[in-house]
Amino acid sequence: MSQECIFCKIAAKQIPAQIVYEDEQMLVFRDLNPVAPEHVLLIPKRHIPSLRKMAAEDQPAVNAVMAAVPQVANLLGLTEAGFRLVTNTGEDGGQTVGHLHWHLMGGRKMTWPPG
Ligand code: AMP
Repeated sequence: MSQECIFCKIAAKQIPAQIVYEDEQMLVFRDLNPVAPEHVLLIPKRHIPSLRKMAAEDQPAVNAVMAAVPQVANLLGLTEAGFRLVTNTGEDGGQTVGHLHWHLMGGRKMTWPPG
């Protein structure tokens, strides 16, 4: 755990979040500033700064997050209509929190290209 990391604090239940799914390796909670009718963040509990900084020992936690995507989409009622899964990485990617996370968004039609 990183002491200054807000998502580590959420994973440790030191600060509150609206949790929608949890298992040993990962947590899913609602984004504080949703940009779609459904907008959750999927995080590994383990502190991984970003996709740029993944170590081999991080891979099981990342695999666990990916494996949970269909179940989380189903929980949110997005399986049939679809959804978007995004990882902003680094400054140009628009990453603002330095703990690896995926945005899962749905409930409206997404546009492309992203801004
Ligand atoms: P990114 O900009 O891709 O790093 O995404 C960070 C996301 O975390 C943003 O969409 C924020 O709205 C969200 N966020 C920041 N702090 C919290 C929090 N305490 N609880 C829930 N979501 C948060």
